[in-house]
Amino acid sequence: MKKITETRTGKIISDVDKHLEYLYVGDYGKENNIKADFLGYTKRIDKVEHTDVDLTEKLVVTVSSQKGCPMSCNFCDCPKLEFKGNASESEMVDEIVSAIALSEIKKGKRLNVHFARMGEPTLNKDVITTARYIGCLNSRELCDGFKIIDFDEYHPVVSTMCPKNYVDFVHFIEEWIKCDEDKLGNKLWNGGVGLQFSINTLDEEQRNKMFNNKSMSLESIGNIIDSLPVPKGRKYTLNFAVTSESNLDVDLMNKYFDKEKCIVKITPIHETHTAVENDYEIVTDYDVYEKFEQPLVKDGWDVIVFVPSKEEDEDRITCGNALLSELNKE
Ligand code: SF4
Repeated sequence: MKKITETRTGKIISDVDKHLEYLYVGDYGKENNIKADFLGYTKRIDKVEHTDVDLTEKLVVTVSSQKGCPMSCNFCDCPKLEFKGNASESEMVDEIVSAIALSEIKKGKRLNVHFARMGEPTLNKDVITTARYIGCLNSRELCDGFKIIDFDEYHPVVSTMCPKNYVDFVHFIEEWIKCDEDKLGNKLWNGGVGLQFSINTLDEEQRNKMFNNKSMSLESIGNIIDSLPVPKGRKYTLNFAVTSESNLDVDLMNKYFDKEKCIVKITPIHETHTAVENDYEIVTDYDVYEKFEQPLVKDGWDVIVFVPSKEEDEDRITCGNALLSELNKE
């Protein structure tokens, strides 16, 4: 059984039988929901107003790489579900193609695919082949003159919480960042590959609590990023889902991470059931973001502040939500 939930910017598909959840949504446009001085978006965002979205401008598809999640981050609803292993390649391709078909977009400007609904994507190496395969479906040259899906740009994105004691982690990351290249290093598609690290705070004790001791230390994450090549397109993203108690100290940021390779992205913790149960502050006051953003910008860091609208959080399209966790109880 599949349950389709209409949201104000798209649809969420909960596949009860397959234990998978995925969605498609549109975006309000960078000028409305981000502040990023280095990109020329300099307006303070006190509130993001809900407006109609144009899916042909940007279609965001978010899919599950695992059926539930074996990690236990204490702000996320996915661990409420029984963990049933990895999604297969065909299941992930099905999630992406089904979401695009449901959106009814036959030709669009930009497709973003985020492996970020349920699961830690680096634990499933088939994420890489799935992302490449979708790139092939979007390429006339690789599809013998046909295009199964049709977007001018394609951006698959992996967000990882950097699982501790996982021996294949670095190998996954190294393969992921070149998944849009052929053996000779030629680009397979227009767009790029996104890699985001969930850091949230530079206080190890706070981090260990948030990630339930299952994420690597900041030093280990920094060392891994140091070993990666300088990104050709968008820099690696350090994600900080913050409360006013988070630590984004500039000296610590410089100690662990390289501003030539990384950007900082600041968001609120999303209002999931688990985040509310664990008394997380859901930041709505822009001053909190500014307190973290300004010292980093002054020090030369590229910083993006991304704020969802009240409607997006209410519709539970944001990361850390899993409607399946309630459906399974019904
Ligand atoms: S945040 Fe990601 S890794 Fe952590 S429990 Fe949720 S789905 Fe798993």
